Amino acid sequence: MSAQLLQAFLIALSTAVIAFPVGYFWAQWAGWLVFCIGLGLQLLFHFRNFARLERWSRSPVVDASLEGEGAWDGVFGRLYRHEKDLRAQIAQREEEIKMLVAAAQALTDGIVILDLSNQIIFCNTMAEVQLGLKLATDRGQPVVNLVRRPEFVAYLKAEIFDRPLTLRPERGEERVLAIHVIPYAGRRRLLQVKDITQADRLDQTRRDFVANVSHELRTPLTVLAGFLETLQEIDVGPDERHRYLEMMADQSARMRSIVQDLLTLSSIESAPPPENDVVDMANLIDKLRRDAEALSSGRHNIVVESDGRGDLLGAEPELVSAFSNLVANAVRYTPAGGTVRIQWKATPQGAEFAVQDNGIGIDPKHIPRLVERFYRVDRGRSRDSGGTGLGLAIVKHSLNRHQALLEIKSEPGVGSRFAARFPASRVAGI
Ligand code: ADP
Repeated sequence: MSAQLLQAFLIALSTAVIAFPVGYFWAQWAGWLVFCIGLGLQLLFHFRNFARLERWSRSPVVDASLEGEGAWDGVFGRLYRHEKDLRAQIAQREEEIKMLVAAAQALTDGIVILDLSNQIIFCNTMAEVQLGLKLATDRGQPVVNLVRRPEFVAYLKAEIFDRPLTLRPERGEERVLAIHVIPYAGRRRLLQVKDITQADRLDQTRRDFVANVSHELRTPLTVLAGFLETLQEIDVGPDERHRYLEMMADQSARMRSIVQDLLTLSSIESAPPPENDVVDMANLIDKLRRDAEALSSGRHNIVVESDGRGDLLGAEPELVSAFSNLVANAVRYTPAGGTVRIQWKATPQGAEFAVQDNGIGIDPKHIPRLVERFYRVDRGRSRDSGGTGLGLAIVKHSLNRHQALLEIKSEPGVGSRFAARFPASRVAGI
């Protein structure tokens, strides 16, 4: 028996103990009267405390107003402590839930938590954006009513989740999404939505690249094989034979330059960030001029315009490769008699290397795509002039690695200017 119960029982007993001698020694009715008054007072006392408890239980608040009298005080005290603990626990759980929600919101993947019947319990902001959901209004809705793509509905229904579902963009959308379904707590499901747009694009680029390389190499190979077959099967005269061999040499040179450019591109891509070697620009520009003259064989006017200030900081082979490509293009796409200008000057932001020509120029619609691998404005013309379609891709990569920007200005029939803008951090001696 608890102390409070014992206390209440002893008080009730004391009424009887007081009433009994009164009834015994004085008058029976007086004894009963004392007993009834004592019990009545106790009843009143208990009723008052019960009423207080009843009032409090309707809206329990944690404050010291929950005070009882006598034996009730202990009961009220325990209730008060219990309520206080409960509130503290609830506050702690709420804080934990808030943290979990904040963690879910911080995820870079979308998360949708579904119940047993695929209704939305929770989704984070990323999932709202990716799947067009709105948690405030969509909570409790079946997810298939909101994400209605047939492939998604079929995927959820089939219940084979060993591979993620890829949702490709439909009208107006841009993202490629991979949806993983992760079962949890029995038959409940959690959707993890990854934005794989970038990876998908890279994959596509890789596939296109392999297809392009195969195509580019297959053409000269087919020509080579054709000539070989002819030479093996037909007895041709010495002149004809010489002509065939020359054409075969051309095709093998072409294959060699494609492979060489591919190797350059891959070495630039896989190389560590470029060093800060000082690249002597006066020397480099002189070399570029001599190469241009050799390539032009006197058909063009090669001009150097340099203020002679500053050198570049970076990987010399990469910069030579980028600048040589620009110079070679200017010579190759400028008809005989034209002028090719190799320019180098300090700018307020750093320095600029540019190659300007008054050649055939480029239609503006092609300009954004020129740096793509194997992109050419005129395939035949590029091939005839010994192009591989990889030159500007090499330029873009090596400039990127030196934090430089490539600016292309061109007008068909007027000429082109390819400028590489270097930031001050890549320039020394200004
Ligand atoms: P390619 O080996 O075909 O020259 P590039 O990547 O160097 O490949 O150049 C891509 C395309 O850009 C070329 O095929 C050509 O059509 C165009 N181009 C590049 N430089 C010039 C230029 N100076 N004048 C005109 N067209 C150019």
